[in-house]
Amino acid sequence: MKMTCINCKENKILQLFEEFIISKEPTDYDVVNEIFNHFSQKAVNIPYCYSCLRQISAGERVFANDFYKEKITSYFAQKIMDSIECCPECGQGQDIQELRYTIQSIFDDEDDDPDAMFESYNTASAIEDLLNEIFCDREDEWDEFYDSIIEKIQCKCGAGSGADMDEKRDYGKFDRYSEVYTQRDIKLFNHKFYGDDLDNASDYINELAKACSLEQLRDLKNDYINNNLFAYQNVAFNKLVDVITGFYEKGMYYELGAERVVYRTRTSKYPELYDREGLWEPPNSKAGQGRYNGVGTSLLYCSNNMDVIKKEVPLFDKDIYNIGKFVINTPRHLFPINFVFKGEYSGLIGEEVPLEEQNDCLKQQYVICNIVSAICAKIGYDGIVYSSTKDNTSVDYALFCNFEKGNDIECIDVVYEK
Ligand SMILES: [Zn+2]
Ligand SMILES: [Zn+2]
Repeated sequence: MKMTCINCKENKILQLFEEFIISKEPTDYDVVNEIFNHFSQKAVNIPYCYSCLRQISAGERVFANDFYKEKITSYFAQKIMDSIECCPECGQGQDIQELRYTIQSIFDDEDDDPDAMFESYNTASAIEDLLNEIFCDREDEWDEFYDSIIEKIQCKCGAGSGADMDEKRDYGKFDRYSEVYTQRDIKLFNHKFYGDDLDNASDYINELAKACSLEQLRDLKNDYINNNLFAYQNVAFNKLVDVITGFYEKGMYYELGAERVVYRTRTSKYPELYDREGLWEPPNSKAGQGRYNGVGTSLLYCSNNMDVIKKEVPLFDKDIYNIGKFVINTPRHLFPINFVFKGEYSGLIGEEVPLEEQNDCLKQQYVICNIVSAICAKIGYDGIVYSSTKDNTSVDYALFCNFEKGNDIECIDVVYEK
């Protein structure tokens, strides 16, 4: 059997999908977990990955085929269908289309441009645009899957569902340029044409923005830099605690599921090598400040694939990567920080530390992440899940050390790579 691993380009869509879920729909984690549970298997006696030739360890997840891609494309097709209210052939969409003929019959002077008039009222969306909206910033990576998503999309009236042998009728298929009307498009039409109110209570609710302004959070950051211990007195600190507690109580978390295998690296000067024991997080006394930990608080930083950890940890002369493979036995409930810090707030969490400041005692770019992480640990989260800042199509996990080593999380193997 030709088994492949999660690190291969063959399975890049699965890494991408996990990144989509953690940043856009974190509570849909069961779709990711189901893919790993049903479409991958625990490796036993599989020495190498068929595609990337990497060594496979017993207990790692491997894929015998890519049937899971159907599950992913269906997920997005369903998302689009949930937003479709009607199409040009049904419901209000049909009424809107008829407007075209009404306009043509009234405005038939040479100088009139009835088509342009109609288009100024027509609020239909092309399916391709709806997909671009879903994948915003990642359209290039997802583009090759657009057609297999679109072929699964149909309107409630049947348009897009293809030929129906029983009914002897062809409903046609949608393509990238097919137009449909989403609930939002219909509201917009009713606003333009009938003057209805556009309720702005919209589907986009940014809980964080409702609680604190960007300015207040920047002020909190400065307060932390200047007063450190007393920053908890800052008004934004308490608002952050309230927002994060609110999320926790609503069950807003991303679950890193049982049997997932995640990767962590340390570099060493060859021929010095670390064994499994050496791949765990450093003791608290040795922990310097990291993106999600302050000095003296150690975390287990892991990723969903091996290539991204290499991008994150630079390799110097004679160094070698020691890569630990960790299997999750007890699911981890993680705070999806990119979902909460979205839009203009994302700048607070995704900053890189410039090379010349890497040895600074306090990395100011990490301050907000450090504060959020401390609050999450206190409230009951098991860690933070986030898009890698070095490769935003990969996922990183900062796991709080509230687990029992060997039971909740187990290091199953270490491999060495250049
Ligand atoms: Zn592979
Ligand atoms: Zn329809």
